[in-house]
Amino acid sequence: MNVLICEKPGLLNYIKRDKPILEKGKAILKVKRVGICGTDLHAFEGTQPYFNYPRVLGHELAAIVDDIEPNDLFKVGDRVSLIPYFNCGECIACRNGLPNCCVAINVFGVHIDGGMAEYISVPVKYLLQGNEMELNELALIEPLAIGAHGIRRANIQPGEYLLVVGAGPIGLGLMEFARIAGAHVIAMDVNEKRLSFCTEKLKVEHTVNPLKEDVLSKLKEITHNDMPTVVIDATGNLKAINNAFQYIAHGGRYVLVGLQKGEITISHPEFHKREATLMSSRNATRQDFDFVVQCMKSKQVDPSTYITHRVKFEEVSDNFQSWLDPSNGVIKAMVEVN
Ligand SMILES: [Zn+2]
Ligand SMILES: [Zn+2]
Repeated sequence: MNVLICEKPGLLNYIKRDKPILEKGKAILKVKRVGICGTDLHAFEGTQPYFNYPRVLGHELAAIVDDIEPNDLFKVGDRVSLIPYFNCGECIACRNGLPNCCVAINVFGVHIDGGMAEYISVPVKYLLQGNEMELNELALIEPLAIGAHGIRRANIQPGEYLLVVGAGPIGLGLMEFARIAGAHVIAMDVNEKRLSFCTEKLKVEHTVNPLKEDVLSKLKEITHNDMPTVVIDATGNLKAINNAFQYIAHGGRYVLVGLQKGEITISHPEFHKREATLMSSRNATRQDFDFVVQCMKSKQVDPSTYITHRVKFEEVSDNFQSWLDPSNGVIKAMVEVN
């Protein structure tokens, strides 16, 4: 079978591997769709901190069960998605019901080889039943679950003002679930195209472009001088992360969903006087995946909004570099396999 491997930053190669054979507790999946996300792009660039090479990318999957031991939940031919966070089941986080931040987590397509292949072998316990869903929807559950998880972490109360910094695919998901939770959403980005996308497609109430306007006064105007009680970073950009501490309302929360390699700098007096809460939000849990599915089924989230680019598996390596360029307007590139 054909496999696309990232040999080192900047280099993708198609190689041949044997089709995996069925092992106990696992399923063989025929991969149908792979969504490309920031993690994949950062891995290709060499800026993803948890990455080593060579690695098969791809963790946003829609697939068909090709082989599986008889069981009550799945059968050959079922449409499925994958929860790509493989956890140890024993560490403190796992014992506390937080498999998303397991001490020994293996993210499929990050720490171990992922889904850019015709067939994959994965543990049955991470499958998600998707017979009532479209393939494209199934491949979008994971990136949206990241947003759903971040919003659940922030514990949004209806009517709160919430600022999402960064209007990439993860930021957009955060805005959707913030809206569903009843927040007044403010989108901030330096890319005007992305801000119009927020307004037109996601019906985001307010936008701020720091290149065009003074952020502090704009946020004060929008929030009637209060400032946002929730600020969420979805840029993974150190400067943006450090900057956003000043946007938090007194008594507010700051949730870091984006990730970067450097060290965060906080003015202690500024942070202290706000009695602010800083938290990170990592991956997602089955609860978040189920919530995304529920929102898709009830049409509160429309997955087709997100897919801006479609390519065949054979065309991925030729196109990958171009998806790094924000001027190409990529929100979500979707790979069609087979
Ligand atoms: Zn992803
Ligand atoms: Zn664990």
